[in-house]
Formats: sequence, C-alpha cells, structure tokens
Amino acid sequence: MANRKILILGANGFIGSSLVWKILTDTDWEVVGADLSDNKITESLKNPRFKFSKKDIVKDRDWVEEQVKECDTVLPLVAIATPALYVKDPLRVYRLDYEANMEIVKMCVAHRKRLIFPSTSEVYGMCPDEFFDEYKSNLVLGPIEKERWIYSCIKQMLDRVIWAYGNHEGLQFTLFRPFNFIGPKQDDIKAPQEGASRVLTQFSHNIINGKTIKLVDGGKQKRAFTFIDDAMDCMLKILENKGGCADGKIFNIGNPYQEYSIRELAEMLVELVGEYPEYAENAKNAKIEIVPSEDYYGKGYQDVSRRMPSIKQAEEILGWKPATDLRTAMKLTLDYHLLGKDYELERAK
Ligand code: UDP
Repeated sequence: MANRKILILGANGFIGSSLVWKILTDTDWEVVGADLSDNKITESLKNPRFKFSKKDIVKDRDWVEEQVKECDTVLPLVAIATPALYVKDPLRVYRLDYEANMEIVKMCVAHRKRLIFPSTSEVYGMCPDEFFDEYKSNLVLGPIEKERWIYSCIKQMLDRVIWAYGNHEGLQFTLFRPFNFIGPKQDDIKAPQEGASRVLTQFSHNIINGKTIKLVDGGKQKRAFTFIDDAMDCMLKILENKGGCADGKIFNIGNPYQEYSIRELAEMLVELVGEYPEYAENAKNAKIEIVPSEDYYGKGYQDVSRRMPSIKQAEEILGWKPATDLRTAMKLTLDYHLLGKDYELERAK
C-alpha cells in the first residue's frame, strides 16, 4: 500500500485511539496525532510511525493548520458525543463540535486534503424507518426546547456543508456514521462521569459497585451495538479507499445483527459481571430501578426508541460485515477493565 500520512485529531479518544492502533498494526502508514491527553495510546506512542502532540484544536489552530498541510488525509475526531452533555451543556457541544470542526473542514478545502468526517447515527433522530438508510431515510428531530437534538443538528449541518464542498468545490470526502460503538477504551467503568457516561459504562460501574441500575423510561428502547474492532475494520477500508470507492459517500457503521433493548443489555451485563469472582456477590444483588428520562437527564431530553442501521453501503461497496456479538464485545470490555487484559496487545504479540 502506498505510503500515507494521516492526521488524527482526537487521537486519544475512543475511536481515535482504536484507529491509531489499527493503522499502525495493519499498515505501514504514518500517523500524526493530537489530543489533550495520551492515556489511551501509551502502546502506540512507542511506534516511530506515530507522531503525537498534546494540543487543543481550539487554542492551537495554527499548529493544526500546519499539520493539515503536511498530511494527505485528515480525520477530525474531536467532539463531545455523550447525550447527557447535549442536554447539560449544549453550547459547549456547539462550540467544539460545530465551530471548531468547521474550521478544520475549511482547512481541508483550502489545502485540498482528503477529509474523513465522523457524522453520527444521531442524525437520523426519531426516523421511523426499520433500517436507517444513508441516502433515503429522513432525518427527524424534535422541537428546539428538546436540547438533546443540538448534536444531531450540528452533525447534520456539517454533513450538508461537507457534501456541498464535495459537489461544488471538489473536496474529497467520506462521511461515516457510528452506531453505538462499544469496547475497552470507551470510558473507564471504574470512574464514569456520573450521569454523563454512555450506557454500558454506567451500567457496568453500577453493577460492580453495588449501585442500582437506572433504566431510563423502562429500558424498552433499542440499540444495535457495534464492537469497536469491527468498526475499525470498516474504517480501514474507508481509509484504503480502493479505486476511490469511498469518495463522496456516506457509510453507516453498525451491527444490525446485534440489536438489544436497554433492559436486555442490563440483564446480560449482570449475568456477565457475575462470572468475575470478585464481583459475583454484587452482581447477584444487582437492583434495577425504572426512572423517568426527565429525572435522569432533565427536561431537554428525548429518547430514540430504535436505532437500526442499514449497512448495505458498507457491505456492497467496502466488502465489510461486522462479526462480533454483543456478549463477546462486553466480555472483552469487562476483561479489560476488571482483569487488566488487553486483547489488542495479546493479539499483537
Ligand atoms: N440509559 C439508561 N440508563 C443509564 C444510561 C443510559 O437507561 O444509566 C439509556 C438511555 O436513555 C438510552 C440508552 O440507554 O436510551 C443508550 O444511551 P447512551 O448514553 O449509551 O447513548 P445513545 O444510544 O442514546 O446515543
């Protein structure tokens, strides 16, 4: 594969850290990374093909622009992507996710770089389609007072601007839409940000610490969970871009074969945590409480009852298919946090 130089902003995030690792282990490309911290990339930092700097994309704009000029492909992965924060601090989400990222989109246009941009499964909002289709589904958002939708709306606008730059000013781009990625480096289940973590982190934390699991609105809402490794296989195919197959396209990255309700997720997790002797007692005594979403998240919240990707695009164009079931994905995540077992490192040995 021809040598490439990829810029990953947000290299220490969940997707960023996993992608840096994937690129360094599966290709001979160079990676330039930036983030505020580096705790998830300690292994990757040892690789001479990875150049990392502690930078803030908002404050270090000039530095970012220099890197954009030096690299051929840009992945701006810096964003707040936690529903609880959309409601608590929508302006922080706006400033970072929209304003700061739009600057980087413009840099890619100005310097004619390939842009691979994270859209989101949230853009489909409350779309009633059985399978969300990148090109056919309507994007359905709630009223303005439901502040949850600010993230979805920001990402939709970015999608539309990037699409327009592609169509009218020749920007080479690909948009990808993650559907509930899960895996070891998502957040630390031993120290979740109270009320601000993704569901798997929060539930795991509560079970291992003997705290009650809070099922928002009864937990009937469903999600299709995608193991990070499967997602990274897809991302690598997008990056490879054989014959330009990913140019100007949108890809859902999700696992439609692993749809579970949030209640089912809670029950499966209790069972799995019960398999670790140190936490078996707490798992046995785990309690589930139903809480109204308004109490849990506040007034500005509105849930998505079902979020199911169509992955026909990724299957047909990229030849990708997810392979990991939810139970295995959760087990690998729990092993990482509870036993300190890192499957990535073990596999690389
Ligand atoms: N949820 C819950 N209890 C919690 C945290 C989340 O019942 O302690 C629910 C939440 O209301 C949503 C689902 O779990 O329906 C998934 O939430 P997450 O924050 O992971 O992200 P989302 O899939 O909504 O983007």
